[in-house]
Amino acid sequence: MLEGIYQVGSVQNSDILEDITQRIEEKYKYIIKIVFENQDDQWSFVKIDSEENSQDKKNLYCLVDGPSNGPSRTPVVLVPVEKNKFFRNNQENIDAHINDILEKKFRKKLLNSLKSFIETYSPNEENKAVLNQIQAIIETSKEAIENTLRDFLSQNSTIRVENKVILFTFIENGKEYYPGEFIPIKETIESQGKYAFTDFYSKYGIESKANNKYCFFCHKIKDEIWGYASPFSFYTVDKESFVSGGFNQKYAWRNYPVCPDCAIKLKTGEKYVSNNLRFNFAEYKYLLIPQLLFFDKNQMKELLKRLQSYSTFSLSNQDSTRIDRIEEYIVRKLSEENNLVNFNFMFYEINNSAFNIILLIQEIPPSRLKTLIEKRDEVDEKFKEFFMPIKTKKEEVDFNFHFGFIVEFFKGGKEDIDFKNDCLQILRNIFYLKPVSFDLLLDRFMAKIRKCFVNNDEFNLELFILKSLKILLYLKETNILDRRRYVMNGEKPLDDFLSRFPILDEATKRALFLEGILALKLLNIQFRDKNAKPFYSRLNGLKIDEKVARRLLPEMINKLEEYDKNYYKELEEAISYYFTQSDFSKFTVDEMSYYFALGLSLGKHYKKEDKEEETNA
Ligand SMILES: [Zn+2]
Repeated sequence: MLEGIYQVGSVQNSDILEDITQRIEEKYKYIIKIVFENQDDQWSFVKIDSEENSQDKKNLYCLVDGPSNGPSRTPVVLVPVEKNKFFRNNQENIDAHINDILEKKFRKKLLNSLKSFIETYSPNEENKAVLNQIQAIIETSKEAIENTLRDFLSQNSTIRVENKVILFTFIENGKEYYPGEFIPIKETIESQGKYAFTDFYSKYGIESKANNKYCFFCHKIKDEIWGYASPFSFYTVDKESFVSGGFNQKYAWRNYPVCPDCAIKLKTGEKYVSNNLRFNFAEYKYLLIPQLLFFDKNQMKELLKRLQSYSTFSLSNQDSTRIDRIEEYIVRKLSEENNLVNFNFMFYEINNSAFNIILLIQEIPPSRLKTLIEKRDEVDEKFKEFFMPIKTKKEEVDFNFHFGFIVEFFKGGKEDIDFKNDCLQILRNIFYLKPVSFDLLLDRFMAKIRKCFVNNDEFNLELFILKSLKILLYLKETNILDRRRYVMNGEKPLDDFLSRFPILDEATKRALFLEGILALKLLNIQFRDKNAKPFYSRLNGLKIDEKVARRLLPEMINKLEEYDKNYYKELEEAISYYFTQSDFSKFTVDEMSYYFALGLSLGKHYKKEDKEEETNA
């Protein structure tokens, strides 16, 4: 994973100024400039000026954040207006507001920012001399600057009441330079800017650096090595699991030593991936991180071009009815790559603008993706007669397998809780071809199915039953469905039909499944004759235990006889036969109810013996 990010970063053109400066948001409407001028090698303060914030000038404004609540590392300070504090428009309030800006933003932050810049980046002698001179001038002209700034703010109320930025500019030979183009700053950042990534070597006030050590990525002995250089901060040394050398953070570099040059590549890789390789899968967002087995610059560049085009494609096709097909298209495309690349999937969520990794699936070869896709195609084809699309007024619902089916069962609603972690675990197991627990699935299947049943929501009942079955068939075909297996020997009634469903490998299951079919037939007859389905209420809210199961068979036969429409003798005999072989104690009520529910939905595929039924069912 890290190697992949490093590889991606290695083929990017890194522009250090672009990389380390922060965009100043549009809500900061104005830029107030404290202007210095150089005449005859002597710097002096000349005036206060202002302009509107321009998004094109990010690198010129050159804001580099410092520690929280501390000064920035370049002479720029953000001045958000505290509206709740300084809202009254009387002189007293205006003076207080201006004093607040002078004290907190100008004296505390802006003046210290130059000091912070010199400390962070240690400019060369020549540049340092210029910056020191400017610092000295600021010190001696502090009063003049403050007074001018005070006048400026009291005269320009439109600027005062808005969010703004204060920065220094520098005039030389008649041209005004912003911080990002002022040579002593620009040159220093270009040569030393990597030290802006202080979080790569300093955390909670503890520095982790070493000299003349081996770098994890370029495999060279480097002058300086950092200990916390982790993109996406997912391998944070705060995590116990990643600290092999105990908890002494100072020595983090021993576990994961990265030289400053490689740290920048990680940073650029992270940025590229975040901006260009975002995808969706089964309703979750993920970042795709490719990783070549043998790194080659050109190969990586070509690969990134292809991947980026998929991303553009998927982002431009957000038609909700087709999203699952687009997601699948991406996986299909990835599966066509050769096995010299592995893919890492970083599933994430953004909560309150914080980036949280929720699942990491690492080093998946394209051949694995191919297996997952091919099995899906096989299952769809093999069972297509049982999964005919359902047409609604709005759309056509098809049952071609996609991973979103699984999410649907685990997603919380108004009344049920979210089982996200279980769901992610299942998706993870599928990618790694590890067993997926039948019992875990069954629990969620029956929760959704039973809810539709008791709410008389026949449409969704049908969708959930068919989707759940498709999930089981897919996992079974992929050989990762973890379930108890049974063996049935000898000739069995209706075996041709029943053996189509590999999970119906036991007498009790078959009895319940066939009973579900018979129930459907009876309900259909009732609906045809009475336009109602009174027998629905005899199904015990779809909680089918042994007692209910044994009660239902004679009840259903009696009803059919009563209507003189008992066309299902063969079915009834088969149920009786399987009952004699059953052992209900092996199954939970949920599992029994599930086979019954499958029968309710698939009953329409059981052979039709009556002309009347055929035309109406
Ligand atoms: Zn290195």
